[in-house]
Formats: sequence, C-alpha cells, structure tokens
Amino acid sequence: MKNPSSDRERSLKSLPGVGPQRLAQLNKLGLFSIEDLLRWFPRDYEDRRTIRPIAQLEEGAAVCVQAVVADEPRKSRLPGGRTMARCRVFDSTGMLQLTFFNQPYLKIERGREYIFFGKPEFTGGRRGMINPVFESADDPKTAGKLLPIYRATAELSQNQLRKWTKAALELARGRYLEPLPADIVAKWQLCPPEEAFEAIHYPQDPEDVKKAQRRLIFEELFVFCCAGQTLRGQGRKNPGPPLQYHDPENFFRTLPFSPTNAQRRAVGQAFADLCGGSRMNRLLQGDVGSGKTLVAAACAWLAIQNGKQAVIMAPTELLARQHKATLEKFLGNLDIPVQLLISAMPAAEKRRVLARAQSGEPQVLCGTHALIQKDVEIPNAALIVVDEQHRFGVAQRAALNQKTDRGHLLAMSATPIPRTLTLILYGDLDVSVLDELPPGRQPVMTRMVSEAKRQDMYGFLQKEIDAGGQAYIVCPLVEEGEEGSDKKAATAYIDQLQQVLPRLRIGLMHGKLKPAEKEAVMGAFAAGDLDVLVSTTVIEVGVDVPRATLMIVENADFFGLSQLHQLRGRVGRGQRQSYCFLMHQAKTETARERLQTLCATNDGFKIAETDLRLRGPGDFFGKRQSGLPGFAIADLATDMNVLEAAQQSAQALLKTDPKLESAPLLADRVAEVIQKTLASSMN
Ligand code: ADP
Ligand code: MG
Repeated sequence: MKNPSSDRERSLKSLPGVGPQRLAQLNKLGLFSIEDLLRWFPRDYEDRRTIRPIAQLEEGAAVCVQAVVADEPRKSRLPGGRTMARCRVFDSTGMLQLTFFNQPYLKIERGREYIFFGKPEFTGGRRGMINPVFESADDPKTAGKLLPIYRATAELSQNQLRKWTKAALELARGRYLEPLPADIVAKWQLCPPEEAFEAIHYPQDPEDVKKAQRRLIFEELFVFCCAGQTLRGQGRKNPGPPLQYHDPENFFRTLPFSPTNAQRRAVGQAFADLCGGSRMNRLLQGDVGSGKTLVAAACAWLAIQNGKQAVIMAPTELLARQHKATLEKFLGNLDIPVQLLISAMPAAEKRRVLARAQSGEPQVLCGTHALIQKDVEIPNAALIVVDEQHRFGVAQRAALNQKTDRGHLLAMSATPIPRTLTLILYGDLDVSVLDELPPGRQPVMTRMVSEAKRQDMYGFLQKEIDAGGQAYIVCPLVEEGEEGSDKKAATAYIDQLQQVLPRLRIGLMHGKLKPAEKEAVMGAFAAGDLDVLVSTTVIEVGVDVPRATLMIVENADFFGLSQLHQLRGRVGRGQRQSYCFLMHQAKTETARERLQTLCATNDGFKIAETDLRLRGPGDFFGKRQSGLPGFAIADLATDMNVLEAAQQSAQALLKTDPKLESAPLLADRVAEVIQKTLASSMN
C-alpha cells in the first residue's frame, strides 16, 4: 500500500501549469511526487498578518496597507530599457507613494481598493513603497496570513511554488494516510499528517508552525532511526567468515599487562560477533589512550588462530607503521607475522608483501589506503579493522569490504561523539565503548594561559625538558597565507623560541613536508633526539610517544573542543604527570567557557557533548567530513531530545515488528530513506 500522494505516476504532472519543462525544473529541486512537494518545507514565512494605517507606517519590516488608488499610474522609461510606474494610494489616515520597477504589464486601477504588501521606505519625508505585491481588497487571498517562503530558483518563482504546494495540499486532502503507528502518535501527541502539512505550509499563526514542526521533526527522525536499525538488522543477517571460538585469555596471558575491564568487555562482544556466523559490523569507540589497538590485536589473533588473515587500515603511514610496531609487540612472541603495506615503499618490497598477502598465508597486514588499491588481493582475510574511522567514509569501508570478500568489520574511533550522534552517523553499526583508561594514568592537567604569562610558560617548558620530558607545540596559522607562509611562520616561531631557550633541540613538522620527511621528524622525536616538536598542522592522531609530557597549543580558541581533546591525548601516555597549556586570546564568555570545559574534565564524551552544544553538529567534525545526513526539517542542534525519543520508539517498534508489517506506509518511507542513504554512500 502507498500513500496516494507518493505515487510518481500520478505525480507532479497533475498540477496546474506543469508541463515537461516545469517538471524538469521541479525534478532539479529533488521534487518528483506530490509527496515530495508536501515535504518541501518553507525555509521561512512572510508575515502578511498586519494591516497598518498609512499614518502609522514605520520604515523597516514589510507590512500590509489597505488603500485606494488615487491616480492613474504614470509610466516612464528609464535608461537601459527599464520601466517605472508610479502612483499614489490613500486610506483614511494618509497618502502613500508606490513605485513599480520593470512591471510593464502592471494592472492597477484608479479608484479601486487593494491590499499592498511591502517595505515602507521614507524619502524626503514622504512615505513610499517600492514594488509592493498587491491584491484586490474585495477578496484578499494572502492578506492577514503567513505565507511560506521556499527555496526558490531563478526558474521557479515563489508564486509558482506557492500555487503548487497549495494544489498539492488540495490533492492530498482527505486522502493522506497516517504512516506512524497509532500508539506512537498517541504517546507523543502528534497531530495528523494532513494537519501538519497544511499548517507548515499555510499556518494561521506561529503556534500552528510549532505544532506542525513537532510532528514533522519527530516523524523525520523516527523514520531515519527505523532506517538505521533496519540496516543494522540486515547487516546482521549477512553471513561472515565463520570463526572457531578461542578463549581470549590465552592471548591475554601473553601480554605484559592485564587488559582493562572495558577491553575485556569489548573483546567479548567482538568475539561473539566473529563466531556467531553473521558478519561483524562493530564500532569501537574509546578515548585516546584507552587501548583500542589491543582489542584489534585480540580479534586479529582469533582470525590467525583460525588460519585466516587480518587487515588493519590506518589513515596515515605514520599510524600504519605504529600499528605494525604495536601489533608486533602484542603478537610477535606468538610467531604471528605482521606485514606493512604503504604507498611509499620500495617496489620490490611491495611486490613481496603483495605476493604473501595473495598467497593467503595467515598474517596481519597493516597499511594505509594502499590496501584498497586495485592490485591488492587479500583472499583469506576474515577481519578488517579500520582505525580512526571518522577519517574514512562509508564508501571506503565498502571498498575495503570488497577487497576482502566481505570480512568482519571492526571500525575504531578515538573521536568520542555524543551517543545521539553515534545513532545518526553509525546507525548501521553495533557499538562497543572503552570507557576506562589503563591503570596508572594520571589525567592531563590542563590550564588556560594568556599572552601575559608566556615567559612563565617557557620557563615551565625548560623545566619539563630538564626533568626528562618532551613537548609538543601546535601552532596553527590563524590566517590563510600564500604558499610556504605556513613554513615561514613556523620557522619564525622556532627562531624566537630558540632565542628564549637556546638549549632546546627543536624539530619542525609542517604541512608541506613529504610523508617521508614527516616520518623522519616524528621518528626523531619518538626516539628522544628532539626535545620539542613544533607542528603547524594537527599532529597525527594516535601517535604514541610516552615520554612527551607537555602539550602547548597556540591560538587554542581556533580549535574545536574535541580537536583540542585529541591533541591533549598526545601526552599523558606515560607514568609521569602531563600538562596541556592552551594559549588563547579568548575574548568572549562563550570562548572562555569552551576552553574551561577542557580544564574541568578529561572525559572525551562530556567534552563532545559540550562541543556539540556550543558549536552545533555542522561544525562538530568540520564541514567536510561531517558525514551528517541532510534533514528536511529536523535540526540536530536543537532536536537532540526528539532524536532520543524517536530512537527509543523505533527500537521498541522494530523489536516486536522487525519488518514493519503492522505499518506498511511507514515501511515504505523507511525503504525510501534506506535507498537514499545507500545511494549517497556510493558517491
Ligand atoms: P588508543 O585507544 O588511543 O589507540 P592505544 O591502543 O594506542 O590507545 O594504547 C595506548 C597505550 O596504552 C599503548 O602504549 C598500549 O600499549 C597501552 N595499553 C593498552 N592497554 C593497556 C592496559 N590494559 N594496561 C596498560 N597499558 C595498556
Ligand atoms: Mg589508536
């Protein structure tokens, strides 16, 4: 069953004035059916509710005036072929001058009464309006109302769009069926869909809009959550390479330390997936330093015990190398081979690694994007681990999946994101959380430092180095400069620092370095040959240098909180107390509040919540990689609590009715959202 209005056959062509050309223009806006048009919500409203006496007009906001035309419009031609027409109108309180530009077919009659809507403008003490819209006062269609403002195009005017949404509402009247289950409608006291559509497009007053929004936002998020859950459910049905269970304690015993409870729990969850017959689709979330690599290693170990291969993909070569080193530490004494595959590798060595991978030999293969290149075959892979997940798109996940003939997936992310956002971004994944740091870690002490205290801070820096520590200094460029200015600014920074602290061995990392050069600098720092690493770009996530105890961030107000938290996570990895200094010029209260959050807590999830609240979801990850779906009406910045509610309802419903058989109209909508999600992940 379908809602009649979603039928594409009896679609937009039934609207007045829609021929092939108009149809194409509507399609360009993403509008294909009457239903699409109903759900094409206004971005704002034009308030034509107030009719004001001419004497009481004020400059500024547009209002209506009910007035009689006093004289024949005087038409004239302007240079450049433009036309102008002027006339005066009056009501019982005064006179108003109207000017119409470029309306050669202006039809306005002397002696008749109209309602004019426009912005009052006063010139030389005279009241006037330029290009007001007007309609006969005998039978006003728009005066006294709120009118929708749509996202118009050069081709389609507001008036046309209004006509069509009106017509769409007519067509749907009395025929639009409620897609939501009755108990959910009752529980959340949602108004019927027809009423909501009517009120969102042509409200009587702002209260109407609110009531409509309540329903439509809930519905949109609810359908979205149902789609995520359904995807996840479908994912669970995909067969994965079945693995024989082995007790992870046998692996844990070989480690120099004992895993945290959180690590044990996550490994348990992952092993249940891996041995359960269907494909694992799991996201492992854990703050920096929570020990995600160990969970990956345990899963790799299980794959190897089963004679299979495991693949670990990192976003940078540095991280890929580090994974190799760490995994060798964890797995090396069990005689498990760990290989590295990156782009910057001698051709002969690469061929050798590729050949071994292709042979199906049980092994762990660490690498970068190089792993998803055409020439790579990993026929025997049972497990794919994707580290720092937020840097990889869904499409890359899919590509890797193909390489490995649909192995189990473990995605790891050190970017704590609020639970609600997890639902949105990773609705198709099961989630494990490492909410506990390995023992012995002291929280990083974090302070805001103003410019006046710079010298004191340098003194502290020297003391830390003398005590055997190392320091990172992140100094991003505040202004985009020309080529090479990135390096210049950093060089100047180092020169100045070197003057103040001549004994320091300082290294420089900047955006223009080649990968190999970056590796060399990072390597020197990790080996302790440098005291301070100055970096113009954000230091690679996940890099592990336990001796580093001090992180200085210049222009800290420039970063997002979650980003700062990530940076701070570079220190505090050893046994000694670590520090993070946030240099800032925070001038506003909000700016200070943001940075204070970091000083007050080391809990990445709490910080993420605050970040989300202060910056909104669009900025949360930075625009480009946000990966957030575009909603028609819901706004994650303000509708988080609705999302929670929608998620709960969706979960409850799908638990009793996984195929949504009791709600076929809802099933339709969910299927449509799934289709759109999958289509967009292909791009
Ligand atoms: P992240 O979650 O940031 O990727 P890592 O996996 O790099 O964290 O782990 C950080 C450090 O903690 C590594 O040096 C790792 O060897 C160590 N580590 C991991 N788990 C434990 C543990 N249970 N006890 C002690 N140290 C651990
Ligand atoms: Mg890591």
